[in-house]
Amino acid sequence: MDKRIKIIKYNNVVKTVSSDYIEEKYKRKSKYMSNNFIEGDRRYRLVILNTAANAIAEHIQWGNMRTDENRLEQGGAIIGYHYYDKARDFYYSEAVMAIPAYLAEGSRTFLNISDFAWIDVYNRIDAYNRENEANCSIIGWYHTHPNDLEVFMSSTDRETQEAQFYHELSYALVLNPHRKNWKSYRGKDSVSCQAVILTDGLSAFNQHLVLEDLYKE
Ligand SMILES: [Zn+2]
Repeated sequence: MDKRIKIIKYNNVVKTVSSDYIEEKYKRKSKYMSNNFIEGDRRYRLVILNTAANAIAEHIQWGNMRTDENRLEQGGAIIGYHYYDKARDFYYSEAVMAIPAYLAEGSRTFLNISDFAWIDVYNRIDAYNRENEANCSIIGWYHTHPNDLEVFMSSTDRETQEAQFYHELSYALVLNPHRKNWKSYRGKDSVSCQAVILTDGLSAFNQHLVLEDLYKE
């Protein structure tokens, strides 16, 4: 990803909430865990709502074998909110929607999201917030490693993360739509992070659905 510009749509406001609030929001819902979930620091969790997961799945054609578009790297922004459960000392970042960077240029091994492509993303974030009376800001980014590529943070990805997504609550998702692998990373050092997709029944992602209890780890 292009490192020249700073992400200007950050809003790292963290809302402190009760454990009950978190429980009400996330518990007893089906969850689909990232492939590196077990390696992640349990104090931080990226919770991806089905709306965001489906937007990503549609953009990258999750599970569809090598369409013209998804053979090349694709990516975009994830937007949402941050919550802090003070009693348990856990952070939850909630991905509400994903905004594809349609104007980014992808190759089989590289993705360049230019300033121009980011401005288009910002405009669509503004439009999303207006239309939904929301106040979402960028909480991270996603991109694909298509075809037979492994899912990991490459040295370029790590540089991008450090330059633009260096906040401790900034996330990166790397997904392979063909192998159906996805992993999540957090903060300036791109450490493995616990991420779950909250599915309400049918989701483009939930073919390997795993039931999991937020508090039984
Ligand atoms: Zn990458």
